[in-house]
Amino acid sequence: MPESARRIVLASRPVGEPKPSDFRLEEFPVPQPGQGQLLLKTKWLSLDPYMRGRMSDAPSYAKPVGIGEVMEGGTVCEVVASNNDSYKPGDIVLAHTGWQTHALSNGAGLRKLDPKLAPVSTGLGVLGMPGMTAYSGLLEIGEPKAGETVVVSAASGAVGSVVGQIARIKGARAVGVAGGPDKCKYVKEELGFDECVDHRVGDFPERLKTACPKGIDVYFENVSGPVWDGVFPLLNTFARIPVCGLIAQYSATEAPDMKYRTSQIFRAVLTKRLTIRGFIVTDFAAKFPDFIRDMPQWIKEGRIKYREDIAEGLENAPQAFMGLLKGKNFGKQLVRVAE
Ligand code: NDP
Repeated sequence: MPESARRIVLASRPVGEPKPSDFRLEEFPVPQPGQGQLLLKTKWLSLDPYMRGRMSDAPSYAKPVGIGEVMEGGTVCEVVASNNDSYKPGDIVLAHTGWQTHALSNGAGLRKLDPKLAPVSTGLGVLGMPGMTAYSGLLEIGEPKAGETVVVSAASGAVGSVVGQIARIKGARAVGVAGGPDKCKYVKEELGFDECVDHRVGDFPERLKTACPKGIDVYFENVSGPVWDGVFPLLNTFARIPVCGLIAQYSATEAPDMKYRTSQIFRAVLTKRLTIRGFIVTDFAAKFPDFIRDMPQWIKEGRIKYREDIAEGLENAPQAFMGLLKGKNFGKQLVRVAE
């Protein structure tokens, strides 16, 4: 019997937090590659916060996923059949084939991965888009200097964990913000941050202040909301704020209840000469060669550590994704789609 393929499509646009009925699992025949094409079988699927944005049709920097279309996503795939001279069966590639077990490709946009150099799943995490986001956003906008204080939110996650460790490599003091005692312990004891402050229990602003006695020179923003309210009064003159993500707002149905308003923020931008700059990782594509030179070396030297949180099976992707938006993941969230 021919193998059948499976995919998860967007069934409806979520209002607020996504729910299971916003996704639908479908079966379809494994497609056959035409001339110049290859058939890819998904091994790993990356789950990333940006996918919440693709489920919405609000104007953004990228096109939304259409209703009934396959959910978008980065993947690590094996080439199982090829009519393309550049690829042969058995090759492992980084692709963007979405939440499905099989896909056709003409080879455009694929990158071959060498399983001997690093576990191939890292192509979706520390050696891939999230690692590159941390590297470029911190170094190009944050510009941390020795002795400065760098604060990063979502500090145990794919991006934040790398931000703090690079800050340490550059001689800065790294302070993480994370949810819960286990994540904070990991950030300090395993990743080597100087401090980590739990944002899910009371007195967060006070405890952050104690952790940053000399104020904050770089704040790498991943979450917004009450965490930003705690950070804002501690910003030093000439502080830099790479605005990478706002996960606390992604499922919001009304404006978040935040203490600091535009007039106060603009006043601080002027009087403290703050630099607040948003970025999308692709803005820094020219820095990729630097990233792929530095990051494997730092991992080899033990200066960058990473952690993966693995969900088993494509059918469990929606649950894992909904958990990611609530902080249930501990490390880079992946789905093992096939062995
Ligand atoms: P993570 O692995 O860090 O997972 C998301 C984490 O966000 C959760 O584990 C949780 O951590 C935290 N979180 C969720 N809700 C809240 C909340 N309400 N308040 C505070 N923290 C919350 O994800 P990534 O590392 O992949 O992504 C981190 C950020 O970077 C996201 O905002 C993402 O959109 C952004 N990003 C931006 C890119 C760009 O090009 N600009 C590219 C890649 C990512 P905890 O339990 O510690 O609270």
